[in-house]
Amino acid sequence: MLTISPTGLWTITPPSLFMKLRAVTGMNDILPEESRAYQRLEQRFRTLVETYGFRELRTPIVEELGLFHKSTGETSEVVQKQMFMLAKEGESLALRPEGTPSAARVYIGNKVHAREPVTKWYYIGPMFRAERPQRGRYRQFHQAGCELYGDAGPIGDAELIDMVYRLATDLGLRDVGVRLNTLGGSEARFEYRKRLIAYFTPLSDQLSEHAQARLSDNPLRILDSKDPRDQQASEGAPVLLDCLTDADRAHWQGLLAALDRLKTPYEIDPRLVRGLDYYTRTCFEVVTQSGNIGSQTAILGGGRYDDMLASLGGPATPAIGFAMGIERVLLALGEHKASEPPLVFFAPLGSAATLASLELAAELRAQGLWVELDGRGNSLKSMLRRADGMGARFCVVMGEQEAEQGTAQLKDLIAHEQRVLPQSELVHAIVSAPPSTSTGTSPAQTSGRPA
Ligand code: AMP
Repeated sequence: MLTISPTGLWTITPPSLFMKLRAVTGMNDILPEESRAYQRLEQRFRTLVETYGFRELRTPIVEELGLFHKSTGETSEVVQKQMFMLAKEGESLALRPEGTPSAARVYIGNKVHAREPVTKWYYIGPMFRAERPQRGRYRQFHQAGCELYGDAGPIGDAELIDMVYRLATDLGLRDVGVRLNTLGGSEARFEYRKRLIAYFTPLSDQLSEHAQARLSDNPLRILDSKDPRDQQASEGAPVLLDCLTDADRAHWQGLLAALDRLKTPYEIDPRLVRGLDYYTRTCFEVVTQSGNIGSQTAILGGGRYDDMLASLGGPATPAIGFAMGIERVLLALGEHKASEPPLVFFAPLGSAATLASLELAAELRAQGLWVELDGRGNSLKSMLRRADGMGARFCVVMGEQEAEQGTAQLKDLIAHEQRVLPQSELVHAIVSAPPSTSTGTSPAQTSGRPA
């Protein structure tokens, strides 16, 4: 942009001074009042999966582009259309669109199979896909997922599926459903692919352009197309269950028997194929009707990928995993904006009272409580207004006189009660206060710690 400087000369102003300061489309800031909901959900996820023995793996968000081509799959939509690529001095890098390839890279690179027969990892973090953003579908989003290596199932599959069902229902989601299918092993897939091509080829002029392109590279994807033309053409399509080998069938039946024993409800959906190329045998999705998540009712998806590790150059290791979309779950729970008020607000007047308040605030924080101390030297009126605005339950007011006498005024801002008590009793009085009637929570429950 050209402007005239005070000296009258034309100068070029850096465009960055004029650009609108906003986040990239489809990538959202998570503001403090929203991040509490993320923390809570992540904590509940961690707590549950750790009872099954999963341990956390953290990997970089950038990987070599080739990793995703080899694992997520050349024909998957994610690799074909949705990769965020970075070019840097001869390196081809990409922002990770999912967590499974990175975990597989770590598993192979660290020869983990040689150390332990069964490995259980979980991860939580941002993923990146260049999609058209809409409600429940973003270009940066967060997934929490698990990977189980070295267990060919079907018992491991059943436990994993039961775990995600429990997770979804424990989180308070309503009408949770597990959709389940088997994609068979490579032999069954090969046979099925042939049958699908034979079935769809004479119908190809009735298919969408997208499905026509899929016909030669990945005809399975036609089955989960949202286009009505493809859905209609798929109606009489062969089903994979008819192509299973004896071993695939035994695996599938073993899975169903174990889920029945666990009383995990599921619905068999022979059209469920999922978007990533690597799945073999078991694949599943968890859906919910809770909340307002638009057309995106799947909160979680996963499946077995027994061939991936060997195809990446690692040992032939059976594996199964899933990933849950954190934003989708939060939308479904409707607690995207959940935040908690500070519990105790200190409003000291004068330096002696401020110093005494500092000490008491530290004691309360050591009990795990959330404490706000207004040390700016403002008027009592403005401090009380701030305490109220922040939704504090208690306000501790201390003036010069109280500081001298070793007392403090404790105001319960929700019950509208106040009393003067010795400073030595203040911490106990707050910690042991009964739940407030309007919030139904006690101080210990409403502390700043994620539940
Ligand atoms: P996937 O990795 O494609 O199997 O997806 C697993 C889960 O991640 C889905 O069920 C969604 O809950 C979530 N997810 C996938 N893509 C997105 C996206 N673009 N935005 C938000 N959540 C997503």
